[in-house]
Amino acid sequence: MASESELLQSVPTSLWIGGPVEATGGGTFPVHNPATGEVLTRVADATPEDAVRALDAAAAVQADWAATPSRERGEILRTVFDRITARAEEFALLMTLEMGKALPESRNEVRYGAEFFRWFAEEAVRVHGRYLHAPSGTGRIVVHKQPVGPCLAITPWNFPLAMGTRKIGPALAAGCTMIVKPASETPLTMLLLAQLCSEAGLPDGVLSVITTSRSGAVTGPLLTDPRLRKLTFTGSTEVGKKLIEASAHGLLRTSMELGGNAPFVVFDDADVDAAVQGAMLAKLRNGGEACTAANRFHVQNGVLEEFTTKFAEAMASSVSIGPGAEAGTTLGPLINEDQLNTVAELVDDAVAAGAQVRLGGKAPGGPGWFYPATILTDVPPHARILTEEVFGPVAPIVGFDTEEQGLAAANDTEYGLVSYVYTRDLDRALRIAEGLESGMVGVNRGVISDPAAPFGGVKASGFGREGGIEGIEEYLSTKYIALS
Ligand code: NAD
Repeated sequence: MASESELLQSVPTSLWIGGPVEATGGGTFPVHNPATGEVLTRVADATPEDAVRALDAAAAVQADWAATPSRERGEILRTVFDRITARAEEFALLMTLEMGKALPESRNEVRYGAEFFRWFAEEAVRVHGRYLHAPSGTGRIVVHKQPVGPCLAITPWNFPLAMGTRKIGPALAAGCTMIVKPASETPLTMLLLAQLCSEAGLPDGVLSVITTSRSGAVTGPLLTDPRLRKLTFTGSTEVGKKLIEASAHGLLRTSMELGGNAPFVVFDDADVDAAVQGAMLAKLRNGGEACTAANRFHVQNGVLEEFTTKFAEAMASSVSIGPGAEAGTTLGPLINEDQLNTVAELVDDAVAAGAQVRLGGKAPGGPGWFYPATILTDVPPHARILTEEVFGPVAPIVGFDTEEQGLAAANDTEYGLVSYVYTRDLDRALRIAEGLESGMVGVNRGVISDPAAPFGGVKASGFGREGGIEGIEEYLSTKYIALS
C-alpha cells in the first residue's frame, strides 16, 4: 500500500478527455485536506472551452459506443468493478484525504460505489423491448430502447466515488457517453476512476472528467449545446432548480437527486435498542454528511427518555473524533469551514430557541473542521434545525403523542428523500410506510442504500431513480416502430 504522498503523486491531476490533458491556459485550483486545512495538491481548472472539448469527444464516439455489443460494454464495467475492488485501499485513503470521512466510512463507500459497476454490468444485457399485435388488428407494435446520447453528470463532494458511479454505471451500460463534473472539493477520486476505466478498456471519449472551480460558467455552454441529451445531477435543491431551468433550453432529459431532511420516527412499541443502533447509523454514517442522514428524531413520548438516554450513551461511548486516516477514528471532520459554521449556527439557533444540549454542542477548534456528535432535546418546532438540512453529526430529538401526530410531524417538510420508522407492529409499519411522503422508507433499518434498489426522492428531493432495474431506464429512450 502506497503512502499518502505516493498515492497523491500517482493520481492524475489534469483533466481527463480521452486521457490526461491540461486545462486551456494551464490554470489549476487547490484541493484541501479537511482534517488539517492544508493543500493536498492542485488540479486542472477547466474552462468552458475544455467542457466543449469533452463534449466533442463524447459526441464523436457516441454512435460507436451505442453500437458496441451490450455484453462487451458489460464486460468492461465488470472489469472496472474488479479493478476498483483490487485497489480499494487506495480509493478509500484518497477519499479520506480529500473529503475527510473516517477510513471505515471510505471503505464502505468503495464497496458501495464499485457495486454500481457490477450491478449495471449485469443490467447492460437486460435492456428489453416489446413486440405485440395492435389490438385493433391493424399492425404490429415494436417497442425498442435506445441510449439517450451524451450525458453530463454533476456530482457532490459527500460521496466522491459513489455519487459518480451511480450515474456512470447505468449510462455506460445503456450505451451513453458521459462527462462528469465532480465537486471542486473532491475531484481526485473521479480522476483516479477515469484513469482506471481507461486501463480497463473503456474507449477514449466515452467517459471524460472535467474539474473546475467555476462550475456554472464551465457547464453552462454544455447545457445549451444540442449534442448534449441528458443532465444528471446530485446536489442541493437550490442548485438543482437552477440546472432544471438551464436544461429547459435544450429540453434535456434530467435526473435530480437533491437535498433531504429525513425524519426518524420511533413508536412506543419499537425495540428501543434496535432503534438506537439504527439511529447511530442513520445519523452518523458519513459523519452526518449524507442526503439520507436522519435529520430529526420524532420519538413517541412513552419511550422518549429511554431512547434519548441510550442514544446519548451510544454516541458518547462509541464515537471517536479525529483525522479520518488515523487508526480508531470513527468521526472525521466536516468538509470545510462553511459547513462547520452552518452546523454550529443551526445548533446555536436551536439552543437560543430553548433546546437543551444533551451531548456535544461545541466545536473543539482547529486545525481542521471538526464538530462533535451532538444530541439536542426539547427542540421547539420553529428551530431551523428541524426544517433545514443539517449535514453534520447533530441529532435533534422531539416527542409526539399519537400515531397521527408522529406521521404529520414526519411529513412536515418540503423534502421527501427517505424516512425511517421503528415499530414492532406490522400493520402500523405498513400504514406509516405508505403514509410517509418520501421516495424511500427504512422500516426498522438505519441504512437503506443498495445498488440493487431504486434510490431517489419526491417533492423538493427531486426525481429520477439510481440503482435497481429502474436506474438504467434514466439513460434510455423508448422508440415505437409501427409495422404492418
Ligand atoms: P451543491 O449543490 O452545492 O453542489 C453539487 C454539485 O453542483 C457540485 O459539483 C458543484 O460544484 C456543482 N454546482 C454548484 N453550483 C453549480 C452551478 N451553478 N452550475 C453547475 N454546477 C454547479 O451541493 P453539495 O454541497 O456539493 O452537496 C450537498 C448536497 O447534495 C446536499 O443538499 C445533499 O442532500 C445533496 N445530496 C443528495 C443526494 C441524493 O441522492 N439525493 C446524494 C448526495 C448529496
